[in-house]
Amino acid sequence: MRLDLTRTQKKIQDTARKFAAAELAPVAAALDAGGERDIFLKNLRCMAQLGLMGINVSSCYGGSEAGVVAFSVAVTEIARACASTALTMSLNNMVCEVIQAVGSEDQKKKYIPKICSGEYHAAGFGLTEPEAGSDPAGMCCRAVQDGKEWVLNGSKAFISSGDYAGFFVIWALTDPSARKGRGISTFLVENGLNGFSIGKGEAKMGQNASSTNTLIFNDCKIPASALMGKLNEGYRTAVGELAGGRIGIGSLALGIGLAAIDFATKYALARKQFDQPLTNFQAIQWMIAESYTELEASRLLLMNAACCKEEGRPFARQASMAKYFATEAAEKACHNALQMLGGYGYMKEFPLERYARDVRVTSIYEGTNQIQRLVIAKDILCAAA
Ligand SMILES: Cc1cc2nc3c(=O)[nH]c(=O)nc-3n(C[C@H](O)[C@H](O)[C@H](O)COP(=O)(O)OP(=O)(O)OC[C@H]3O[C@@H](n4cnc5c(N)ncnc54)[C@H](O)[C@@H]3O)c2cc1C
Repeated sequence: MRLDLTRTQKKIQDTARKFAAAELAPVAAALDAGGERDIFLKNLRCMAQLGLMGINVSSCYGGSEAGVVAFSVAVTEIARACASTALTMSLNNMVCEVIQAVGSEDQKKKYIPKICSGEYHAAGFGLTEPEAGSDPAGMCCRAVQDGKEWVLNGSKAFISSGDYAGFFVIWALTDPSARKGRGISTFLVENGLNGFSIGKGEAKMGQNASSTNTLIFNDCKIPASALMGKLNEGYRTAVGELAGGRIGIGSLALGIGLAAIDFATKYALARKQFDQPLTNFQAIQWMIAESYTELEASRLLLMNAACCKEEGRPFARQASMAKYFATEAAEKACHNALQMLGGYGYMKEFPLERYARDVRVTSIYEGTNQIQRLVIAKDILCAAA
């Protein structure tokens, strides 16, 4: 595995870093406070134009073809400035990849360029349901064939980008009599169809610029051509794509953790107590050492998972390890960083309380860290048996 970035990977990283510093960092606090939706959407469009929405996607469909490592490092740079923007970017890339992996040529040509070009600000990944989160195979949303159409009924919960996504990848039961997980299919569903409504954004702890919505299907008719991939094989698609998405979420958490500890380290160098800089105290040095070590280990796990995926090797175990480790390391880094600022860390005047809120969900979505441990253990035990 190469540990140095290639020229292309560095270029993508630099592009993301410069954009994040110039355009995202100055508005992140205002976005978190619930304003500036126009700026948030404008930034998503600009990022598409910079090639950040289809990083591991073929140029035939408008992607950058820069690979999975480039995707990972770019998400980290964006997340250093704005976690909500990084989440939207990560999901847009994920949706492009799922269409690229199992879509028909017509579907690829129709949908992927809309995200890569910024024509659509976002696309949604609709798997979770109110009664099916960690166990998505237990979903109830139904798709029934009716002549040349499918009719969707049911709902999806906690779907990111619901407010501004142009279309959604939706999983629904197409054969309820099949064994669990075997009768699920994948569909491409455009926003604005009759019978498809989007609930109001959830009020959340963090990542507030990114909307999180319920999707409701009430006799929503979609054309036969909306089926993506093979009938009844959608669950396998979902599981495969979630593994790739976990590299995105681990990379996002890494960005938040680095932003937090970088900020706190600079602060501790400048802040004096007992007539000396905070960095003279071993307790502070240990928090700095611990956090940078754990974030560096996270980076290496993410690189490993990204390289495995890029080279076409199995990567599900590696992606789960990277997501679980990186998100917990980042949470700890945010905790340490806030502690290093003392009372100022708790104040909205500084970004630490935002980082601590934004990082929390990274160990929950795209599979909780308990589920990551199950995935890792299952893979290890299968190999050992
Ligand atoms: C902000 C946000 C954005 C999201 N965006 C999306 C999105 O775009 N698309 C999408 O499809 N979903 C999305 N989700 C949903 C997310 O993936 C789920 O919330 C997550 O998978 C957990 O499901 P749940 O919330 O139903 O919790 P549950 O499944 O009810 O889990 C509750 C607790 O039980 C634990 N648990 C469950 N089963 C087991 C087990 N077998 N062993 C041990 N512990 C277990 C869990 O780890 C957790 O601690 C989002 C969620 C949030 C909060």
